[in-house]
Amino acid sequence: MEIPEKTRQELIRQAFAARERAYAPYSHYKVGAALLCQDGTIVTGCNVECAAFGVGQCAERCALTKAVSEGERTFSAIALAAALDSAVDLAEEPYPTPCGACRQGLREFVDPEAFQVIMARSLTDCRIMSLEELLPASFGPSAL
Ligand SMILES: [Zn+2]
Repeated sequence: MEIPEKTRQELIRQAFAARERAYAPYSHYKVGAALLCQDGTIVTGCNVECAAFGVGQCAERCALTKAVSEGERTFSAIALAAALDSAVDLAEEPYPTPCGACRQGLREFVDPEAFQVIMARSLTDCRIMSLEELLPASFGPSAL
C-alpha cells in the first residue's frame, strides 16, 4: 500500500530529528530512523554506539525494539536518514540503506513485499524500496 505523501514526509522529518540524537562517537556515522506502525504511531530510533563495538545498535533496530516493547507488532514503513557527522550537505550523500542485520530484524514483523524502506537524503529526496527488494527470498517466521 502506498504511504500518503504527508505521512512519508513526516516519517522523513522524524528520521532526521532522530539522527540529531545519534550517539556515534566512534564511527561518526549518525543515523536516524522513524518506523510507521499500522495504527499510525511513529516510533523513532538512532544508532547508539559503544566502546565495546559489538554492543552498539543500529537506528532501525533501536526503533523496532522500542516499538515492540511498547506493544506494536505491525509496521508499514521505515524512513532512514544517515550520513557522516562531517557531511556538509546530506542531499549530496548516498541514500542510506539498512544493514543486513536490520533487514532481517525488520523481516520478523513485516510483509516484505508491502513494507516500504524510505531512504532519505532530504525531506523531498528519497529512494523507496520494499523489504523484499532489499532482502529477497528471506527467511522469516513462517519457516519455523
Ligand atoms: Zn543495521
